[in-house]
Amino acid sequence: MKPSGIAEHAVQALNARERQRFVESNPQSAALAERASQSLFGGVPMHWMSDWSTPLPLFVARAQGARFFDVDGHEYVDFCLGDTGSMFGHSPAPIVAALREQAGHGLTTMLPGEDAVVCGELLAERFGLPFWQVATTATDANRFVLRWARAITGRKVILVFDGCYHGTVDETMVRYRDGYTVHRPGLIGQARNLTQHTRVVPFNDPAALEQALARGDVAAVLCEPALTNIGMVLPEPGFLDRLRELTRQYGSLLIVDETHTISTGPGGCTRAWHLKPDFVTLGKPVAGGVPCSVYGCTAEMAQAMQLVRAHSREMAEGHGHSGMGTTLSANALAMHCMRANLEQVMTESAYAHMLGLAAHLAQGLRRIIQKHELPWSVTELGARCEFQFRASPPKTGAEAEAAFHDSLQQTLHLYLINRGILITPFHNMTLCCPDTTEADVDRLLATLDEVLGELLAIPG
Ligand code: PMP
Repeated sequence: MKPSGIAEHAVQALNARERQRFVESNPQSAALAERASQSLFGGVPMHWMSDWSTPLPLFVARAQGARFFDVDGHEYVDFCLGDTGSMFGHSPAPIVAALREQAGHGLTTMLPGEDAVVCGELLAERFGLPFWQVATTATDANRFVLRWARAITGRKVILVFDGCYHGTVDETMVRYRDGYTVHRPGLIGQARNLTQHTRVVPFNDPAALEQALARGDVAAVLCEPALTNIGMVLPEPGFLDRLRELTRQYGSLLIVDETHTISTGPGGCTRAWHLKPDFVTLGKPVAGGVPCSVYGCTAEMAQAMQLVRAHSREMAEGHGHSGMGTTLSANALAMHCMRANLEQVMTESAYAHMLGLAAHLAQGLRRIIQKHELPWSVTELGARCEFQFRASPPKTGAEAEAAFHDSLQQTLHLYLINRGILITPFHNMTLCCPDTTEADVDRLLATLDEVLGELLAIPG
C-alpha cells in the first residue's frame, strides 16, 4: 500500500480501463494526433503537452467561460483554466471586446499608448508599488527583475525555495538535496553550472534561510508567497515576516512572484497579506489570457534602476543592450486587453464569486476524504485549491513531493476527463473562475467520490 492509502494494483487496473475508454470515445482527437505526429515534434506544439494523463493528446475545439469542447464534441468543466492563464474564464466578454476594438488599430508598434498609462496607474493602485514595466510572459518578468536586482545590489547570487517554479528561468532550476543546491533532475541542454549563482533552501525554514543570506552575497530572494507548483505549501505563521526582516538585514532584495497567488485577490498576497516586497512579478491571467506580464517596484528600486541605466549608458558604445525586453512586449493588443482585464474582469466581485466557490470545493473535498478514510489533506489559496496524498498539509517542497503518487494522480485526472472534467495536470490543483457554478463544483465532487469508491472496491 502506498502512503496515499490506495493500492497500486487498483490504480493500474482502473487506469487500463480508463485509457481504453478514452481512446474509444475520442476518435477525432486520435485522428488529429496521428496527423500531428507527421509535422509536430512528438505530435504536439509543446513537447510536454504529451505528458498529460490521457493516452493521446486531447484536442480542443473551443472554450468559453468555465467550459471547453473537444474535437469529438464532448463538453468539459474546466478547473485547470490554462493553469491560471484563463483564471477569469475563457474569452471573457470584455477581453473579446478589447480584442475587436484593437484589431483594426494596430497590434504592435514598439511605442506606448494611453492604455499603458492606465495599466500602470491601476497596477500601482492594486499592489501598492508605484512603478511598473511590461513583459510578455511571467518567465520574462522574473528574468528581467533578477537582472535589475543583480545590477542594483552588485551581487550575483539569487536565492529560491526548494520546490519552486518561476517559469523557465535557468537559474531557478535547482533543488535542495542534503543541504546542497543541485540541478533539477530532467533539465535538457543545460551547459551552465546553475549552482554557482543560485542557492536554495527549504520553504518555512527561517534558520536555513538566515544561514544562506548571512553570507552577504545574495542579490535577491525570488519567491512565491506560497509554493504552488509542487502541490501547494502555505507559509507558516510569521515566515514571510521573517523573510522580509532577514532580506533587509542582509541587504538582499525581495521579489514576490504573484503569477499563481493572484488567486487570492486583485492585489495578490502582496495586498492580502500586507507583504512589503521590493519587486512584484505577475504574468498569465493579467491580460485575460492574452500573452502579457508585468513587474512592479518600490520608489527606492526605481531610483536605483535609474542609476543602473545611467551607468550602463555611460559604459555602452552606441545604443548598447540591457539584456532585457523583447520586441513584442507591451504591444498595443496586449496593453488594450490588460486594461480591459484590470478595469472590467479582475474585479472584487469576480473574486468574491471565485473565493466562495473554492471554499465550497475545499469543504466538499475534505468531506469526501473523510468519508473514504483517506490520509489526504486539502490546501486553499483563494480561488485555488489542492488535494494532496498526505494526512497533513506539507510544510516544505520536499514534504509535498514525498506525497506524490503519480500513477494515482494520472488515473484520477483521466477518470475525470472521461467524464467531462479537467483539473490542473501534474498535481491536483483546481481553480474556480467567475463562470464556474456551484453545480460544476458539485459535479467534480460527486465524480471524485465515485472514482474513490471504485478504486477502493477493487479487490486486493
Ligand atoms: N511564476 C510562477 C509562480 C509560475 O507558476 C509560472 C508558470 N507555471 C511562471 C512564473 C511562468 O509563467 P510562464 O510560463 O507563463 O512564463
